[in-house]
Amino acid sequence: MEGTCCEMVYSPGAWRSHICGRKAKVEVHGKLYCGIHDPKRLQAIEDVKTAERNRKWERVRLIRRKSELLEDLGKLMISVMANNGNVIYVAGDARLKIVEYNDVVNKLEPKQEVANEA
Ligand SMILES: [Zn+2]
Repeated sequence: MEGTCCEMVYSPGAWRSHICGRKAKVEVHGKLYCGIHDPKRLQAIEDVKTAERNRKWERVRLIRRKSELLEDLGKLMISVMANNGNVIYVAGDARLKIVEYNDVVNKLEPKQEVANEA
């Protein structure tokens, strides 16, 4: 391919940018880029970073939700004890929270969910 890379770059420690000028390897939207500044390659790298960030945030969200569900289930157990062991008022709510808890745990640590037989 004829031509040179059009990307504006900064040399280490420099405060002014200059044109990259390396031999062009790709043309994207009518502009020439070297292998380093190939927009499609840079986008692919960015996509991998974004996916990794999203995975980490989802894991943080699941860990928080797991704690909330354990706290909620603990409160339901306190209610049961305050009602002399009668589960009638909390069974439905507890069942839903256990289903969600199992789902969260399974996403965090597959194959370690607690039994959910009513
Ligand atoms: Zn370049």
